[in-house]
Amino acid sequence: MITRSPTPLQRRQTRETTPDTPPSWQDQLAGVIRDPRELCRRLGLDASWLAGAEAGHDLFEVRVPEAFLGRMRPGDPADPLLRQVLPLASEAETTPSFVADPLAEAESTAAPGLIHKYPGRVLLIASPSCAVNCRYCFRRHFPYDENAPSRAQWDRTLAHLHDDPSIREAILSGGDPLAASDRQLAWLVERLEAIPHLKRLRIHTRLPVVIPDRIDAALLQWLSSTRLQKVVVLHINHANEIDEAVIGACTRLREAGATLLNQSVLLRGVNDGIAPLAELSERLVEAGILPYYLHVLDPVAGAAHFDVPDDEARELVAGLRDVLPGFLVPRLVREIPGEASKTPL
Ligand SMILES: *Cc1c(COP(=O)(O)O)cnc(C)c1O
Ligand code: SF4
Repeated sequence: MITRSPTPLQRRQTRETTPDTPPSWQDQLAGVIRDPRELCRRLGLDASWLAGAEAGHDLFEVRVPEAFLGRMRPGDPADPLLRQVLPLASEAETTPSFVADPLAEAESTAAPGLIHKYPGRVLLIASPSCAVNCRYCFRRHFPYDENAPSRAQWDRTLAHLHDDPSIREAILSGGDPLAASDRQLAWLVERLEAIPHLKRLRIHTRLPVVIPDRIDAALLQWLSSTRLQKVVVLHINHANEIDEAVIGACTRLREAGATLLNQSVLLRGVNDGIAPLAELSERLVEAGILPYYLHVLDPVAGAAHFDVPDDEARELVAGLRDVLPGFLVPRLVREIPGEASKTPL
């Protein structure tokens, strides 16, 4: 016999070295673009963008996954996906009323990694990092180092949930909770399940959008087996973010029993028009996602160039109501420190 079928090891090696095998989500996360020079080069931006990109990067580092980069138009500095991640020189300008902690979260941190601001639900910082760094992020100055609890500290956080029967919902947030490993997440969800008054698990994530391969068998395993009702709130700002791979990830999440909602941020130069917002809603529903919130920008230092005034925001949503069915019109909200919920505009 001249040929032999490959051993499992050989087969694995072949798979690992085949160029058309997509890298694992972990490799994609480890390999995100972190260099402003590379970001500009890959998108064919002319040299005039580089100084600003480097200055902004010094304030809040560049992070862009390949899968997200692949949906941008090369050579177009106005691309709505690129605008969300490309640092600009203006990030270093100070603007009155744009501050480091616009939501005063430092005051609501009840235990390490736990933010309890609203009745009935708590937010857990399940991972300090994100796959993508969005330039307008209201947590761009968040002290994650102080809020990345060890397992022992998680016990304190979980004790707070055990002791408060009014809490019905745990919201995994971050950073991006799905940047954590499935082992860590399965551990946490198992502990949450053991709290009898807890009914719902909500996951606020951008990972299914920026690295759709994150929604893999290991994740679907713990997600589909929990007794908790599951709601995944995605964060998508523009229709171009939703490609076939994202639709595939959303389909897998829905098949695992999750309800899918979306929150967007209204951003100058990204989605500040009736046409892009309507197209976003249409594309969301195609992917099985319902629009939930359209947030006005939180006034975080470094993001003033994304701001859209309230009157204009209201006009845009009124315009959406004229062209879309009611269930595809997101609620326009602002987060005001001290209020018991997001405030409708
Ligand atoms: C936004 C937010 C929530 C969730 O609010 P919903 O209106 O229920 O979506 C919960 N906790 C904190 C701290 C929040 O910022
Ligand atoms: S994914 Fe969310 S938390 Fe992470 S940088 Fe973007 S807006 Fe901020």
